[in-house]
Amino acid sequence: MNDSTPDIRTRIVHHPYQPPEGFVAPQPGVFKASTVIFPNVAAMREREWKDKTGYTYGLHGTPTTYLLEERLATLEGGRQCLLVPSGLAALATVALALLRTGDEVLIPDNAYGPNKALAEVELAHYGIRHVLYDAMDPQDLAAKITPATRLVWLEAPGSVTLEFPDLPELVRICRARGVCTALDNTWGAGLAFAPFDLCGDGSLGVDVSAHALTKYPSGGGDVLMGSIVTRDEALHLKIKLTHMRLGLGVGANDVEAVLRALPSMALRYRAHDQVARELARWLATQAAVAQVLHPALPGAPGHAHWQALCGQADAAAGLFSVVIDARHSQAQVDRFCDSLQLFKIGYSWGGPISLVMPYELASMRQRPTPHLRAGTVVRFSIGLEAQEDLRRDLAQALAAAF
Ligand SMILES: *Cc1c(COP(=O)(O)O)cnc(C)c1O
Repeated sequence: MNDSTPDIRTRIVHHPYQPPEGFVAPQPGVFKASTVIFPNVAAMREREWKDKTGYTYGLHGTPTTYLLEERLATLEGGRQCLLVPSGLAALATVALALLRTGDEVLIPDNAYGPNKALAEVELAHYGIRHVLYDAMDPQDLAAKITPATRLVWLEAPGSVTLEFPDLPELVRICRARGVCTALDNTWGAGLAFAPFDLCGDGSLGVDVSAHALTKYPSGGGDVLMGSIVTRDEALHLKIKLTHMRLGLGVGANDVEAVLRALPSMALRYRAHDQVARELARWLATQAAVAQVLHPALPGAPGHAHWQALCGQADAAAGLFSVVIDARHSQAQVDRFCDSLQLFKIGYSWGGPISLVMPYELASMRQRPTPHLRAGTVVRFSIGLEAQEDLRRDLAQALAAAF
């Protein structure tokens, strides 16, 4: 093509100008593609889409997605990473890749709710049985592993009630039985503990770490994305083949947003954590609060396990729950949430705005919860506002409701 090509429509599409190479800036470029162009047919036939030696199709990777994958693998201490459109898609992809008809999957009763729902409906339709176990009782897990068990989900701490399990012990039990372990590592975010090195000497780790990048890696409450990190090439490839056949892709702009937020994540995580702990301690002194559920606070369920795994980093997410004393009605709890001004009512966490959400625990747990006081569970996600302003907001809402 040269300037003598007559039609301006064609000339604009096939314009010959190439910007000079060697552009270097703080943020990487954003490459967008469905189609990837090959120099010739031989190159097209030779290209391998299963690894990062080249490019074949937008769904299988671009320079932008490769960059984020490599950074996330490093963050979590893994070797390979796959990006998916949400945290829940990460959980679903792991299950669909590793389970088949006749298999069993073990899920903690306090797992992220939609992970249990996927097992109850879709996995059941495919003839995959799920069994709920008590993550705080390693012997319960040990007793429930059968020859059909192919996958054990782990979560530290559990969703909403934030009980911190003895994660190394749970992994050891699965290892001894040769069962694959997959951790939902959204809370730890690769910062509170190393999922592939739970003892600090390289001797023990999970097989798969799934992470809702929607939370701290995105940090803005404006991106949905998930990742699946592994250390074993064969396991990675197995999940990647399913990932490819399911057609899971992520948008380049969303990847860019996470790449931009990732460098500040450790600072943000620390800031969320510090204010959350202070507010949790303060709430523990309030009359309406029967119990504070924060794994870094002494007395919380599993605190010793948090101390053992995360004590060195002294790190926790900016997330905690309280049990509002049973003498207060649901209407009062609702009024408390509605009275908050800075805390907004909404799902998810990890963004700059503090969030509050009341939960009906009875519908969320199949097993008894004797470690929890009677009452209504309210979860807080602490954003990046000033601690004193948040405390004042909590105080006025408590006064308005109880
Ligand atoms: C939010 C969350 C997910 C799901 O992430 P989405 O991106 O919202 O689908 C999974 N697990 C845990 C523990 C979460 O908090």
